[in-house]
Amino acid sequence: MRGENGMSKLDTLLLYQQTEQKKQDLEQTLRSTPARQKYNRLYTQLKNQQVTNQKLSDDIAEKSARLAKYKERVEKLKDRIDLESGELETIRNDEESTGEEMTELRKDIEKLSKEIAQVIREVKRIQAEVEKTKEEYQKTNLVARNAKKEFDQIKITVDKEKADSADAIKAIDAELSKIEKGIDAELFKKYQKGRQHYAVPVVPVIGGKCSGCNMSLPMVMLKKLNSRDAVIECENCGRILYSNDL
Ligand SMILES: [Zn+2]
Repeated sequence: MRGENGMSKLDTLLLYQQTEQKKQDLEQTLRSTPARQKYNRLYTQLKNQQVTNQKLSDDIAEKSARLAKYKERVEKLKDRIDLESGELETIRNDEESTGEEMTELRKDIEKLSKEIAQVIREVKRIQAEVEKTKEEYQKTNLVARNAKKEFDQIKITVDKEKADSADAIKAIDAELSKIEKGIDAELFKKYQKGRQHYAVPVVPVIGGKCSGCNMSLPMVMLKKLNSRDAVIECENCGRILYSNDL
């Protein structure tokens, strides 16, 4: 029943599909070696640590800027106290001054002192926070540095694995282009279109059904399947069909 066209074209296509599967399996194996898994894990870990460290260092920068402002404010308040204390001294030595004026100034100085104490308390609180954040930053940094060492180490193994299988993949690629030359161009186009949706775009008809999507095929289509040069596509899923009976 096998002719030069039709089914033999499909046989070549099936061989192509099989070879492509082999390549995929190889790539899949390469992607899931213990070294590659560790590599991926460390890569994610390092990325996350980078984000964390950036947040911590932003936090430190923001709080340091706030501290600088508070310290400036304390200086200004101290200057005002100095000024008003001087004034108080002058008034005290002035016989014409009233007790009321002095009380007013004392109250003012007291208020300023309270404000300074409050700002200093706030400064101390932020300083403690900054210290804690710096400690955390150093800790994450240390962990990240160790992870980076591990990452660099495992990368050597991963690169070696890649290099080792590069030849095998190259050989399969050569095989694929050789097989491709024997496939009808139109059919190959259909196959490639199918590959965009399905890992296996060429499937056998089993029990009158497309084995890709399990759709029952109409009789007329099953009959066409037996003709040598027909290329039948499943009406439901678009996969290319072949008959196992031939
Ligand atoms: Zn189907």
